[in-house]
Amino acid sequence: MPRKDLNRFYKHLVAEMHTNDTHFHLVEQVQQSFRFFLDLDFGKHFATDDDLKTIFRVIYDDGKRGGDMFISLCAREEKLGIHIVFPGHITDVSKASVKCSEIFDELKTNVSGYAWNEIIDTKPYRSGLRQLYSFKFVNGKEDVPYVPYCRLWKGGYTPLESCNRVELLETFSIFPPDLEFKPKVVPKKLEVDNVLDAFIRRVYRGWGGSDTVTGVRRVSERKFQAFTNSRFCAVVNGRHRSNHIWFDIERRNTSWRLKARCHNETCDSNDAKEYPVPPSLIKFISSL
Ligand SMILES: [Zn+2]
Repeated sequence: MPRKDLNRFYKHLVAEMHTNDTHFHLVEQVQQSFRFFLDLDFGKHFATDDDLKTIFRVIYDDGKRGGDMFISLCAREEKLGIHIVFPGHITDVSKASVKCSEIFDELKTNVSGYAWNEIIDTKPYRSGLRQLYSFKFVNGKEDVPYVPYCRLWKGGYTPLESCNRVELLETFSIFPPDLEFKPKVVPKKLEVDNVLDAFIRRVYRGWGGSDTVTGVRRVSERKFQAFTNSRFCAVVNGRHRSNHIWFDIERRNTSWRLKARCHNETCDSNDAKEYPVPPSLIKFISSL
């Protein structure tokens, strides 16, 4: 999608959000150049409001870090996610990683009591950043979205209440102004794999720590298959030596079911237990 159409795209999204309360699951993929951003994940030990102010000031560094910064928050019971976007600062993966480690050093020096190496997440520089207002599946449940918090600039903190959602989507986007998009299929697919993986981890007993979903494909209108590196077979209730199991996700009347399947001839997969799959998850997989 060319940059010039992005505004129109955002308008459609916002209209959908308002009129149909549609939930989106969008990740903006990191391109060759992008706006610099930071992803901070605070776990159970939340940063206090005072600490947050200090943290933001350290990151802002009187504008030397990359000009105005826009902060969005994703607050759940036990976690606080923070996305900071610098719309005026265009970067690339290697420069962003250098800057990120500078920020890490300064936070470590100036704000003690936090495990900064765990809080600063650098994975998004290799994949992308969840879009403002977008939902995400965590352990099969929809997580709350990131919402705008404030702008930090030379005039201090400014709330963003007066901006409309289309403006905010543009401001918080990591895409640089002149970008021609090169759509990549892989990250979106990876996201689907991860989401399914989280769901299976929750329902399928025997799913090991290193077991993962390695791919999902649509077989028909009523059927998907998810491939895995897992050897845990639900029929024998144990691990096979070499067979990897896969899952059929099939529509039965009105509901969708997930069932483990096995290559082993002596295993009759019909005996395997079926698990209901939430419609929201199917909707997400279907977006592939
Ligand atoms: Zn088996």
